[in-house]
Amino acid sequence: MHKKRRLCVPGEVIGVIEEFMPSKNVYQENYNLRSKVVGKIFFDPTLKIVEVIPSSINLGYPKINDEVIGVVEQVQGGIISVKIIEINNKPVHSQFIGLLILRSPPLERVHSKIVLKPGDLIRAKVTSLTNNLIHLSMNDDKYGVIYTKCSFCGGDVQVVGKRIQCLQCKMVDERKLANDFGRFKKY
Ligand SMILES: [Zn+2]
Repeated sequence: MHKKRRLCVPGEVIGVIEEFMPSKNVYQENYNLRSKVVGKIFFDPTLKIVEVIPSSINLGYPKINDEVIGVVEQVQGGIISVKIIEINNKPVHSQFIGLLILRSPPLERVHSKIVLKPGDLIRAKVTSLTNNLIHLSMNDDKYGVIYTKCSFCGGDVQVVGKRIQCLQCKMVDERKLANDFGRFKKY
């Protein structure tokens, strides 16, 4: 697991390349690893990586109308769990799981077309915190998948009409895409 250390400032030496590989917000200069930001240093002795979590990090619980970015973890029976990694464009370092509930009244067809798969990076809005659950919605053009890979072979995908197609295996897949899908690189 990550071992939390002290706060550091940009440019500060936080390790040497013999010990750790640089990860998020860390750069290498000669044999030294330096921080790019003000933040807390985290070492992972197992993976031998060091990263810095910016101190503008969002430690608070998500609120209604917050915009979140998260990774789809599970899709089961119309309930999708999403690991939240950003709230209002700020990274979170706590484990918040949001829920997208796709079960909807039979007359409401909007939600029946929403398709997500585990590993999708999505943008959504917090609509309710009932029963201490973070309820999410993708009910807007800007909400939906912002980055994904082919769920068959892991290849890069491109948008074809309202679907995505794998550049490698050519499989076509359905997703609820955000209107700026494709502008995001790997997370
Ligand atoms: Zn593929």
